Amino acid sequence: MKDDKVKAIINGTVIDHIPHGKSELLVKIFYLSANYTYLVGSGLKSDKVLSGKKDIIKIEDRELSQEETNILSLLAPGVTVSIIRDKEVCDKVKIQLPKTILNLIICNNSKCITSIDKETETEFIVIQRQDGVFLQCKYCEKEYPIEELQINL
Ligand SMILES: [Zn+2]
Repeated sequence: MKDDKVKAIINGTVIDHIPHGKSELLVKIFYLSANYTYLVGSGLKSDKVLSGKKDIIKIEDRELSQEETNILSLLAPGVTVSIIRDKEVCDKVKIQLPKTILNLIICNNSKCITSIDKETETEFIVIQRQDGVFLQCKYCEKEYPIEELQINL
């Protein structure tokens, strides 16, 4: 299966070079099945991915923000993100590995000030350790594995 077997989209976002098997996690984290039309190609041949197999996700009518793209780099290292407008790639988003994530993630600690006072902006510190990537809430200091983050849409 090659890239062009996955139908082209007119407007939206293409997330490419996803390590094979990670696409399900991305679909879940960005709530794609509930809110958007998207296409997934799974197990496509790729020289750029270590395992030789990649996944690709095409989301219709949604442009990922820079912050969301940065989160992707933590979840699926090596991904590329392209914004499509009128069938053309109009922007290859430059991915930056974030040190902190502002106001995009929900803290699921019910006692956290950000849960009690919804006006408080959330801030998470990115911690990279040998056992994985973790996000630590700046306010209550609770740590989450990156795979369990909840995005505030
Ligand atoms: Zn918290």
